[in-house]
Amino acid sequence: MEGPFFVAYCLHVSMKKTYNRNNIGVYMENKTILQGFEWYLPEDTNHWNYIVENAHRFKEMGFYGVWLPPAYKGAAGIHDVGYGVYDLYDLGEFDQKGAIPTKYGTKDQYLHAIRALHDVGLEVYADIVFDHFIGADETEEVDAIRFLDTNRNQQESGIERIKAWTKFTFPKRHGMYNDYVWTWKNFKGVNWDEFTQKEAIYGFEGKKWEQNVDNENGNFDYLMGADLDMDNPETVDQLNRWGNWYQALSEVDGYRLDAVKHIRFSFFIEWLKNRRSEAGKDIFAVGEYWNGDLEKLENYLDSCGGMMSLFDVPLHFNLQHASNSDGRFDMRNIFENTLLQTRHNWATTFVDNHDTQPGQSLESWIEGWFKPQAYALILLKDEGIPCVFFGDLFGIPKQDIDPVGKELEILIKVRKYLAYGPEMDYFDHPDIIGFTRFGDTEHEDSGVALVVTNAKGGVKRMSIGAQHVGEIYVDCLGNRSERLEIEEDGCADFAVNDGSVSVWVSEKTLDKVL
Ligand code: CA
Repeated sequence: MEGPFFVAYCLHVSMKKTYNRNNIGVYMENKTILQGFEWYLPEDTNHWNYIVENAHRFKEMGFYGVWLPPAYKGAAGIHDVGYGVYDLYDLGEFDQKGAIPTKYGTKDQYLHAIRALHDVGLEVYADIVFDHFIGADETEEVDAIRFLDTNRNQQESGIERIKAWTKFTFPKRHGMYNDYVWTWKNFKGVNWDEFTQKEAIYGFEGKKWEQNVDNENGNFDYLMGADLDMDNPETVDQLNRWGNWYQALSEVDGYRLDAVKHIRFSFFIEWLKNRRSEAGKDIFAVGEYWNGDLEKLENYLDSCGGMMSLFDVPLHFNLQHASNSDGRFDMRNIFENTLLQTRHNWATTFVDNHDTQPGQSLESWIEGWFKPQAYALILLKDEGIPCVFFGDLFGIPKQDIDPVGKELEILIKVRKYLAYGPEMDYFDHPDIIGFTRFGDTEHEDSGVALVVTNAKGGVKRMSIGAQHVGEIYVDCLGNRSERLEIEEDGCADFAVNDGSVSVWVSEKTLDKVL
């Protein structure tokens, strides 16, 4: 290597080495997470068994960890995907909300599923929902004020006496593990008055919406159900006690934290510190802050002291725009204004999830033709922790959505075996972009060259490093059939078809990734 390219190469490497890697377990080199569920899984209480049966397969596919859905009893019983939290201590053990198991199975089956994943060497991440409870056992009379749905800072009424579903006694659990009774004092508000049978945003008199939350709708503390009041120290204490109990029981390796934009921004600092000190190890954490505005995500990271990574929602929207703009999206901007670009050590990247899939609350589905491109971009990059959606890997039968297919499985393996070493970006054309990974000496024959387009295909001359001169590279996705020899300057003309992606790897590695 020589000339300006050599300088750029050195700069890149030295920046990496001196960058202060997050020391709280968030950064995971070349690891890939599987989101182990989609919204429309059958309501057959059998998913934990499915996880047990497929643990080995997930490991073979190249995953490092699996994010499991919320494991506690939801208000809709076996119909609850898990986000309608009723009883945090009922992991499918008590006859509540119509059945003993949750949608996914019983407590024993859940613990078995975690053990099965651990036994094959996979980490397990639990989905934690701390914004609200739903499905109270009794009502209470409370003084409340109605707030405008579109501006929760604006009162819509004076003080009214309402009947609120806020008393959680969990009568069928009989105080097992914890006998705390939750009342209106643990909550900020509700969206239903049983007296008038009226739906509205009711905030309890004498309380204030949490101020340090997202400011959509004026104040986005309230999302649904009975909204947890973190100003009440008993609420915080109970969530902490539960975390202690749950982590010791489940031995999970990390957490996916739901709806963090609706929860006091500083809340998880102490909660995660406690879990990390109890576990005596790194505990991975990723928060769901659903907003495409990068500044809001950065503000949250600062507010929570960088204690967790966040899903890279702005990147998801860039990928979606690229997929549905008939080739007009400027591919040079695919990583613009994303966490991957500004806070890469805190970026958990993804293409789609259980909320963005068709029919769901945050529907913003990336079209099928662009999925391999999108996954190639997040899986082969040095930075970010990619999370692969169950519905993309295995399909969504209920909606006749097919799996992305073999290409996705190959990409996960290319990440695991070949996507190492410095990255060289070629984001220099509005349609066709690419990057290379030079490989390193620890991973045999590693190195990869990616070319992606959302419009017309073509050729991009890229360097993969002088150490590869004379090697034969092929497109492991099979979209291009030629064999390319890396030339004396470490470069080659890497091709891609119209609206396609090609992933060029050493011919010698095909048995590893196919
Ligand atoms: Ca809230």
